[in-house]
Order: sequence, then structure tokens, then C-alpha cells
Amino acid sequence: MKITLNNGVQMPALGFGVFQTPPEETVSSVAEALRVGYRLIDTAASYFNEREVGEGIRRSGLDRSEVFIETKLWISDYGYDEALHSFDKSARKLGVDQIDLLLLHQPLTADFEKTIGAYKALEKLLADGRVRAIGVSNFMPEILERLLTETTVVPAVNQVEVHPYFSQPDVQKADSQHGILTQAWSPMGGITSYRGDASRSTFNDPVIGEIADAHGKTPAQVMLRWHLQESRSAIPKSVNPQRIAANFDVFGFELSTEELARIDALDTGVRGGPDPAAVTLEAFHRDIPEA
Ligand code: NDP
Repeated sequence: MKITLNNGVQMPALGFGVFQTPPEETVSSVAEALRVGYRLIDTAASYFNEREVGEGIRRSGLDRSEVFIETKLWISDYGYDEALHSFDKSARKLGVDQIDLLLLHQPLTADFEKTIGAYKALEKLLADGRVRAIGVSNFMPEILERLLTETTVVPAVNQVEVHPYFSQPDVQKADSQHGILTQAWSPMGGITSYRGDASRSTFNDPVIGEIADAHGKTPAQVMLRWHLQESRSAIPKSVNPQRIAANFDVFGFELSTEELARIDALDTGVRGGPDPAAVTLEAFHRDIPEA
């Protein structure tokens, strides 16, 4: 199942995430994901595993053209020249000449000039054919508007936290009004488990459990199906081969309109991740090593 981005590039709707996947497990889990059918891998400079993602892709034996590679520049590398150099670091670590989708990982609200500089570098990379599409992550509607007024290329994607307990309908609406695809991070609400009380996570939600039982599926599969039927991209993460395969086995059933609405109604309005406006260089600086 593919989604056509606003610049005509086709991207698999369902991808594979590697946030918190240790480098030593990244090669095998990426290769396993590609073996069972995923064709989109989502990483980031700040996950410190781009090299291993590249190795996993090579190990899969698939042709480079068959795998859609998505990565993100970190805030410590914002500014025009810094971002251009950061692309080189990521491309070299991944071992590729061209990246399919390159995102700004976070807006630097307090230092928006640097954010604009970095985005203009993405526009340059797009014009030069070094990337096939560009986008953003964690951009709330107001900050997205600021970006749109100061730059030329409308982002293809806004990757934001979306799961049943925090579905950000306002962000999704703003994205779609501008023709931007919303891509769900923590699509199964993993963050409600690893950053919260696991017994009260989305995986243990009674409504999702009931819908899952009705279809003979797992809660994870129901949540991923919910994204796909609501036209979002989703990038579930796992290091476990059974869960990697099960999370991709979501194309053989259909949720009803009523079931989708029941999941939509679970939104609590409480985010699991950091408030994007609170992401500053002081609090979140990371040195992104040279390739
Ligand atoms: P997910 O919703 O993908 O959940 C992953 C967690 O759930 C892991 O702890 C995983 O453990 C577990 N899990 C995976 N499959 C199942 C299953 N079938 N049943 C039960 N538990 C399961 O959340 P993430 O936060 O990991 O987000 C996914 C991806 O989104 C990231 O890898 C990254 O690519 C992206 N992301 C982007 C952010 C951004 O700021 N742009 C922020 C956060 C994530 P195990 O590995 O042991 O299976």
C-alpha cells in the first residue's frame, strides 16, 4: 500500500521505526523487517544507528531502489550550512547517495532563524536531487504556518505523535489543509508503555482489545489498521521478529466506520513526548558525529 506525497513521490504507507533500537540490534531488525515485507525505514541522526540501518538494508539483498529511506536532521545541526553538512553525515553513514525523505526532527521555536536556515538547506538538497522529498516532524499548526510563510516548498510529511490516546486532530487537520501527509510516530502508543504505566498503555486498552478480539487480531494490528484506514502513514518499531512480522500483517482485514470512531474517541489530549515548544538547544543538544 503506497501513498503519493504532494510532490508525486510514492512512499509506502506502513514503515519500520528504529528509535531506541540499539546499534547492535539494528542491522538484524532492519534486515528482518525488509525480509517480511516492510519497504520504508525511518531513522534519525539522533538515534545514532544510521550506519546500522544502512548495513541492514544492504544485508537484505534488496536493490536500493526498492527501499524508501527516511531520516531526520537533529536541532544541533540546524542553520543552512550546518544542515547541508548534516545531510552528508547521514548519507555517508547510511551508505547512500540519495535519501528518499529528509525531515527536520523538531522545530527550534526559540531559534526559528536556524530552523528556517535548515529547511532552506532541505530545499536546496531537493533541488539538487540529493533527496526525493522533504518534510518536518513535531511541527504544531502555528509553527507550521510560520515555516510556510518563510519558505517555498510545502513539506511532504509532518511526522508527529499519533496514537489512540493522543491523536492530535488539530495537527492532522492543519496538515491536510496544506496537502501535508501526517505520519504517526509511536503509532501503537509505545510511548504510553515505555514512558508510562504499562498496565494503562494503549496495548491494554479495553476498547481496542474488544475490537481486536472481534477481528481475531492483536491490539497493535488494530491500531496500525486504524492509521492506514484514516490515510496516515505509520512507522511501528520492534526488535522482536514475531512482533516485526505481526505489525506488518495488517492488510487482510477492515475496521468499520464505527470501530474507527470508537478508537478516535479514546484521545485524552495528553501527549507522551516532549512539548515541541520546549525543545531547545540548551535542553536537547546532541553532538551528531561525523560519518
Ligand atoms: P511504537 O508505537 O512503535 O511502539 C514500540 C514499542 O512497543 C516498543 O517498546 C516495542 O517493543 C513495543 N511493541 C512493538 N510491537 C508490539 C506489539 N505488537 N505488541 C506489543 N508491544 C509491541 O512506538 P515508538 O515510540 O517506538 O515509535 C515508532 C517509531 O516512530 C520510532 O521507532 C521512530 O522511528 C519514530 N519516532 C519518532 C519521533 C519523533 O520525534 N519524530 C519520536 C518517537 C518515535 P519491542 O521492540 O520489544 O517489540
